[in-house]
Amino acid sequence: MPVKIAVLRETRPDERRVAMVPVVADKLIKLGAEIHMQTGAGDAVKLPDQAFRNVAFAADAHELVRDADVVVSVQPPDAAIVGAMKEGAILISFVYAHKEAELTKLLRDRKITCFAMELVPRISRAQAMDALSSQATLAGYYAALLGATNLARILPMMTTAVGSIRPAKTLVMGLGVAGLQALATARRLGSMTEGYDVRPETKEQAESLGAKFVDTGVDARGAGGYARELTQEEKDKIATVVTKHIQSADLIITTAAIPGRPSPKLISKAQVEGMKAGSVIIDLAAEGGGNCEYTQPGEIVRIGQVTIVGPLNVPSMLGEHASELYAKNQFNLIELFLKDKSISLDWNDEIIAKTALTHAGEIRNEAAKKAVEGV
Ligand code: NAD
Repeated sequence: MPVKIAVLRETRPDERRVAMVPVVADKLIKLGAEIHMQTGAGDAVKLPDQAFRNVAFAADAHELVRDADVVVSVQPPDAAIVGAMKEGAILISFVYAHKEAELTKLLRDRKITCFAMELVPRISRAQAMDALSSQATLAGYYAALLGATNLARILPMMTTAVGSIRPAKTLVMGLGVAGLQALATARRLGSMTEGYDVRPETKEQAESLGAKFVDTGVDARGAGGYARELTQEEKDKIATVVTKHIQSADLIITTAAIPGRPSPKLISKAQVEGMKAGSVIIDLAAEGGGNCEYTQPGEIVRIGQVTIVGPLNVPSMLGEHASELYAKNQFNLIELFLKDKSISLDWNDEIIAKTALTHAGEIRNEAAKKAVEGV
């Protein structure tokens, strides 16, 4: 029996991505899989059903997953879909168990092996499977464009018959994958750029992209290459240095995140009130509550003459390329266990072991287990 992979059509509001693109479907078929997709799954990213060759389509998601060995999607599926999956099947999607406690319990109880894309370990061998990074790269790029289009100014220097226009100044706060891409994009658009982060190794990365680094002297390196939470004293020290950069910027892009915690507040109400008239903040951390105290997730707010944009699900706004990269990330993960036309999970493989959220009736990820079961 060939391995049956089912691809769901996304149902959450504003989710345009799809977990399968034609090149990936072709590669999976070569590996011995049979691909079944929900009708119209790729419509939102201009991938009509006819764009997929040798793929079967079905309108009903429950029917689709009932005998599937592997189910793939971008967002976690509804409980009813998980309920319709066969015991022991594999689900691959983003989950974020701390926000999806009931669904995680259901995945556990239905004995689904769930690989949660946000759990892919950040080791070199897993880079090609790292959807957090692929999606953050696109979001960082788009943040610079959103900034440019929300400003009533241009980013580059421009010499005209009536005089020269000075280049705008863009400050990027939080220099992870998205922040570095935002810095690179803003500079390509002609802006002067400054970068700020609490991890000191980002200084060199920002400078290599032609940006100045705002050095506050606070080192907040935490576990696994991520930032840790700061003390009040550290926050005060940073505010003193950072305020003058905030107040001289035309565009600020914020991307700071601490895994599993609300976004840290990097820009206070008082700092916004001291910003230049006409300046814009693009808060890529809006999903986690935002890096600016005035951010309203999913909204554009105006405080005096300052515009604060809190976009949600930015990768979905670039759905075509976001789907392509996401599907390729998933393919590289599936390739680890789809061998000789059958599924074989090697639990000694760090990627398999760490990406598994649930397996054989257990929540395997410690942080998720604590969040969901309280133990
Ligand atoms: P993230 O989305 O978790 O956070 C974005 C940035 O915000 C980080 O640079 C973080 O240091 C910064 N930040 C957090 N709190 C802050 C604060 N109070 N003030 C200022 N900045 C703050 O980051 P990410 O893009 O997921 O990357 C996190 C780390 O993982 C980086 O070191 C990155 O290089 C690393 N990484 C490694 C791999 C790999 O090796 N495969 C892949 C991707 C990312």
